Amino acid sequence: MAERPYIVGNWKMNGTRAMLSEVRAIDRSSQRLMKVEVALAPPYTLIHAVHREVEQIGVGAQDCHPGVDGANTGDISASMVADAGAKFVILGHSERRENHNESSELIRAKITAAVEAGMRVILCCGESEATRDAGDAEAFVTKQIRESLPDVLDNPTDQLTVAYEPIWAIGTGRTPTLDDIAAMHSSIHSTLVELYGEDHAAQVRILYGGSVKPDNAKELLAVDGVGGALVGGASLAAESFLGIVLAAAEAQDQ
Ligand code: PEP
Repeated sequence: MAERPYIVGNWKMNGTRAMLSEVRAIDRSSQRLMKVEVALAPPYTLIHAVHREVEQIGVGAQDCHPGVDGANTGDISASMVADAGAKFVILGHSERRENHNESSELIRAKITAAVEAGMRVILCCGESEATRDAGDAEAFVTKQIRESLPDVLDNPTDQLTVAYEPIWAIGTGRTPTLDDIAAMHSSIHSTLVELYGEDHAAQVRILYGGSVKPDNAKELLAVDGVGGALVGGASLAAESFLGIVLAAAEAQDQ
């Protein structure tokens, strides 16, 4: 692993101020698990409150608009989420690609906007079940990454994390085999080497996401090339999220 494992909770469209007690619990316990980098991406409406609440963990957004400002009713720019306290933004999540018809071209524009606003980016990629069954998963993900990433990043090491999230594993309780995860992470790493060179690519963490829970986290995080996890459902309660953080700390010791 390039650095500390990175465990990121994606709260999706969940959470009101009543959930700040979970945030406090996650933050306080993470202070005792410094071998792991922990972060939460709450909905826009909670970014500032979460930012004020935490001392240890990172805070990010789940999306941003590619523009800087202007007549885009209901949209939020990268500099706005940065101003609210976000240090990173998740882009290209399959729920955005599918439910909002986001193309890789749009995601590339969003990444450029986020980086220009001084944010780190977690780029999501992942195939559908039909694509995996057809044997095309690696080619599909390679294309997604090539089309979504800007050719030039000043410092990919600091600016970029990639999250491999097979669509069919999100929220379903199903996960790929450990061998399939290892093969995909190795393929993603090779694509990053082509784009940014060996030295930078070696430092870009590649997270696995899709039904990560406390009881499967240890084996998933021990897979070669897995630098952490992007966690949906299990990040909503401190107890289950911290179970995953603990598993990441234990995987570091082995
Ligand atoms: C996600 O949507 O990013 C995700 C990984 O969800 P879950 O952990 O619920 O499968």
